[in-house]
Amino acid sequence: MLVCWLVGKEKCSQRMKLPHLEAVVIGRGPETGITDKKCSRQQVQLKADCNKGYVTVKQIGVNPTSIDLVNIGKDEEVKMKPGQVLYIVNKLYPYMVEFAEESGKTVAEAEKKKQINKTLWEDSCEDDDVKLVSRKRMKMEVVDTQGSSANPKLSNITASSHEGTSSKKEHLGHWSQGLKSSMQDPEMQVYKDEKTVVIKDKYPKSHYHWLVLPWKPIPNLKSLTRDHLELLEHMHAVGQKMIEQCPARHNLEFRLGYHAIPSMSQLHLHVISQDFDSPALKTKKHWNSFTTDYFLNSEDVIEMVRSKGKVLVGDRISECLKLPLRCHHCKQQLSTMPQLKAHLGKHRPK
Ligand code: AMP
Ligand code: ZN
Repeated sequence: MLVCWLVGKEKCSQRMKLPHLEAVVIGRGPETGITDKKCSRQQVQLKADCNKGYVTVKQIGVNPTSIDLVNIGKDEEVKMKPGQVLYIVNKLYPYMVEFAEESGKTVAEAEKKKQINKTLWEDSCEDDDVKLVSRKRMKMEVVDTQGSSANPKLSNITASSHEGTSSKKEHLGHWSQGLKSSMQDPEMQVYKDEKTVVIKDKYPKSHYHWLVLPWKPIPNLKSLTRDHLELLEHMHAVGQKMIEQCPARHNLEFRLGYHAIPSMSQLHLHVISQDFDSPALKTKKHWNSFTTDYFLNSEDVIEMVRSKGKVLVGDRISECLKLPLRCHHCKQQLSTMPQLKAHLGKHRPK
């Protein structure tokens, strides 16, 4: 039987055993050493499942508990896996979990010997739930095709070269191949199963922005046939699971869909919350790609493949990117991106 440990990231000497399927409540107090009044004495409840290799974390206190800096929400529960960081309150007091054999060797150490990366959590999580894995930063730098790079020169070059050019290089180092690298990087993966992988969008255009990708190489929508119907439905279901496990799901709307003309290679389904509250959302093109007919609903794509056997995209679809800026809620037209962003703020709950 494995043993679960809660380990303080700042003070590694802080180790607390989490007995299998027993609820343990921690917060301000001597066991954690937290004296911060913002932290309730009963801030968070932890229940380890040593067979499945995760810990169910429930926020009990009023102030936010978070995992990998994503707030859980009061009385909400999420699953936490080794590799993720639990912040007890207000993004402070980081802890991680470890599953160790009685011998003291961590599961990760033992596993590493058996297999590298691929099916990291498959054995430990047989249920149908979303499997969350480590979400640390990607190490490889790839130029942002959506012009979100910190380097404006690079962004401009890529923005003008990425659509409809035949000179596109296909080697893995090219920016258009960035998703293929990201999807293979265990540190980018937030979910995976035998058919698909989910990564966080590297330049998220909203608070929550994930990409669901098939493992099978499928360059884009044009490659789709009826043979892919089951896969497309699975990708949609995975996207919905991501939404279900999102702590903010009750306060946000989401859309699932594809860009009519994607800039990145390898089919990817966008799962994006509709707040569009993000510094990476910078240009009219970004805005219109998610809020006009350029964004094809996943369900419509599936229906088209079912009825027509392929995805048909109008010749003039790129014109959508040049449409005037219009609020997706109330349809008011705005002249500039800063004006649009200020306007969007008015729709957010105060
Ligand atoms: P599109 O191809 O237009 O459907 O969008 C591609 C998406 O991938 C954009 O939302 C980008 O922000 C995102 N993106 C670009 N490069 C990477 C990368 N290397 N890893 C993860 N996401 C990326
Ligand atoms: Zn509006």
